[in-house]
Amino acid sequence: MVRIENVSRRFSIDGGKTSVMALKNVSNQIGRGEVVVIIGPSGSGKSTLLRTLNGLEGIDEGNIVIDGVDICSKTTCMNTLRTEVGMVFQHFNLFENKTCLENIVLPQTVVLKRQRQEAEEVARKLLERVGIPDRENNYPRQLSGGQQQRVAIARALAMKPKMMLFDEATSALDPETVSGVLDLMKQLAREGMTMAVVTHEMGFAREVADRVIFMDQGEVVEEGEPDAFFDSPRSDRAQRFLEQII
Ligand code: ATP
Ligand code: MG
Repeated sequence: MVRIENVSRRFSIDGGKTSVMALKNVSNQIGRGEVVVIIGPSGSGKSTLLRTLNGLEGIDEGNIVIDGVDICSKTTCMNTLRTEVGMVFQHFNLFENKTCLENIVLPQTVVLKRQRQEAEEVARKLLERVGIPDRENNYPRQLSGGQQQRVAIARALAMKPKMMLFDEATSALDPETVSGVLDLMKQLAREGMTMAVVTHEMGFAREVADRVIFMDQGEVVEEGEPDAFFDSPRSDRAQRFLEQII
């Protein structure tokens, strides 16, 4: 479903004097219904890779093809791409001055041009599905972090995406609310959603991932089935990384 071919992304820093290669010649494929967990040290390019998949970040070289559509082509509509590839961030990124219901309704009416009534019905069903049906009139600040993240997930799902990207979706949450959000992600995975997940939750990776990708310094260093990867990583870099975090 997703084909990533020889993708590179360079950022200039120091006002252009130096540059970092956030992605170096990355190639990979993600199948329909597959759950891929991406791990690696800070600065290894995990977020950059996710962001390229829904066009939030451009690429300098290579190709990304999603469902047969080259998403880097100038004729590809970014609005369509972003409805098809939903993204959930560490810091929720909700509209603070809108209620929960409105946060989920707004992208549907603006981007998909859905009628308000239909958009509200979709939003209410999703609020129920993510476990906070009674919070539709609350503003984000009136909710816990875990509840805000549920709204963010509902908002992405309202667009009926083909794929979901999660960038450290539980990293900013209190420990006691992490598992609820992880359960929701597990449920989506079981229902067959194609997912790319950047997370520090190794238990989740082991349990839910079909495949683990380990990145370091902009490269995919190693990948494999979770048990094989965690129990006997092949590369030194992955071994060292796992020793540090476990
Ligand atoms: P973390 O685990 O800390 O979130 P990451 O693996 O997600 O790290 P990225 O955010 O993808 O890493 O960053 C990869 C590299 O690209 C880093 O060296 C980072 O400093 C650099 N980088 C990312 N975005 C930009 C930007 N907009 N401008 C300059 N450099 C950037
Ligand atoms: Mg990141």
